[in-house]
Amino acid sequence: MRIPLALALAACGAVPLSASAAALLLTGGRIYTGDAAQPRAEAVVAIDGRIAFVGTEAEARQRAPADVRVIGLGGGTMFPGFVDAHAHLVGIGQRELTFNLEGTRSGAELQEKLRRRAAETAAGKWIVGRGWIESQWSPPKFPTRADLDTAVPDRPVYLTRADGHAAVVNSRALELAGVNRSTPNPTGGEILRDASGEPNGMLIDRAMSLVRRLAPDDETDLARALEVGAAREVQLGWTQVQIAGASVNERAALRDFARAGRSKLRLYVAVSGPGAAAEELLRDGAESDDRFTVRAIKLYIDGALGSRGAALLEPYADAPQSRGLLVNTEDVLFGILTRALRAGIQIETHAIGDRGNRNMLDLYERAFEAVPPGERRIKEPRWRIEHAQVIAPADLPRFAKLGIIASMQPSHAIGDLYFAPSRLGKTRLAGAYAWRSLIDRGAIVAGGTDAPVERGEPLIEFYAAVARRALDGFANEDWHLEQRVTRAEALKMFTVWPAFAAYQENERGTIAVGKMADFTVFSSDIMTIPEAEILQARCVMTIIGGEVAWEAP
Ligand SMILES: [Zn+2]
Repeated sequence: MRIPLALALAACGAVPLSASAAALLLTGGRIYTGDAAQPRAEAVVAIDGRIAFVGTEAEARQRAPADVRVIGLGGGTMFPGFVDAHAHLVGIGQRELTFNLEGTRSGAELQEKLRRRAAETAAGKWIVGRGWIESQWSPPKFPTRADLDTAVPDRPVYLTRADGHAAVVNSRALELAGVNRSTPNPTGGEILRDASGEPNGMLIDRAMSLVRRLAPDDETDLARALEVGAAREVQLGWTQVQIAGASVNERAALRDFARAGRSKLRLYVAVSGPGAAAEELLRDGAESDDRFTVRAIKLYIDGALGSRGAALLEPYADAPQSRGLLVNTEDVLFGILTRALRAGIQIETHAIGDRGNRNMLDLYERAFEAVPPGERRIKEPRWRIEHAQVIAPADLPRFAKLGIIASMQPSHAIGDLYFAPSRLGKTRLAGAYAWRSLIDRGAIVAGGTDAPVERGEPLIEFYAAVARRALDGFANEDWHLEQRVTRAEALKMFTVWPAFAAYQENERGTIAVGKMADFTVFSSDIMTIPEAEILQARCVMTIIGGEVAWEAP
């Protein structure tokens, strides 16, 4: 870490901080530092991208350089920079740029949107969209190819469910892909079928690629998607996004994007594995600077709950013949894990079901035993489980015991509360979205959004973590409200815990002298206002590296 001269001077008491050009003084609102030694402050001075002073306004003004830029917080409330510990930045940008089905309220509305899209798309071209979710439709049933055929019979249609773990396609798309009643389910995937055995248009997990590989990618210009996605993130108040999975191409696009310097958003990247991107990272090692770090591999053990791909120990309550899907073999995963320990590469694995989570904890534990600390490039691996959504009670203490970080998305609990009870039944809900249980057992819980699976807004996540209710206040009676977290814990979930999950807790995550000057300013004090009002608050300013990255007009 480079210590600016200003910090060395700051230690000498009343000496002015520095005469540097790049100095900011922030004051005129509430400031929560997240630092137990000094939880509140009146003013913060940042010099050359680092925090140089935290304390009273009078002292800040006295010690700041003469040419300091004073920024009034306008009565807003400033926090350490918010971090999204799990998001898909390319997908966020693509959602803005392509056929967005988010918020579709019924099968009929899906058909209507599809008709309109077809009318404005050249004849014969694929229609590719994303973002529908049937869990709040009545009835909450998956759409079928017949539903799509009614709207668009003549050209192929491919519509990804919001969670990215299922898609519905029309008959034309199935025909082009050669998927019919005699096509077997691929490993780790399922072709849903009607009573007569014909594919009904729904493709789960690995079965999606049977059709997706045919649809053109031309509307998914990576550079453009990143630009649009990053601009959105900064406006919402995110200062860093931890990207859960990137192909070789996406990694290159992310690096180019970071180097071009058009966005100040910090990026922490996990490449996708198994495959070429993971092999490259295991071979070449991590790459890291202040803005752009690649040091993790994202793996999958199972699918998602909504599409019944999550691997469960006991059958689905609403599908007694199914326990979900394991999408990678243990041998493949174990090989990557042991190599990653030797190479100092972090692992983050998608695990949703209680079987998925148990298998992954077992594999992590076996890998730690197979490669003891002396043989690891980094002794404390800080591996993560992404989602950690349904956990058997016996496995809850294992996160803290093994030093595994639970990377969880509060909004999943409020999106899934409509269907998770029917998928899981009452008993298993006790270990579902169990933030409180994990924190109480000493686990680090890094908060994220999984956007574009969810909306991806910091205040929705903060609200979901403390309220555990739908945006309209609804929660059904079995929804274990005791798993809510306090506001102080919710703040940690989006600041210092994601920093820890990225090995950056000494650099970011709280407002303290010497750390990077990353701040998020909201319009109201979300630590004290009534719960429902959290959703009315807005980001008014985002500061990254001591520069104003975004400011509300
Ligand atoms: Zn994800």
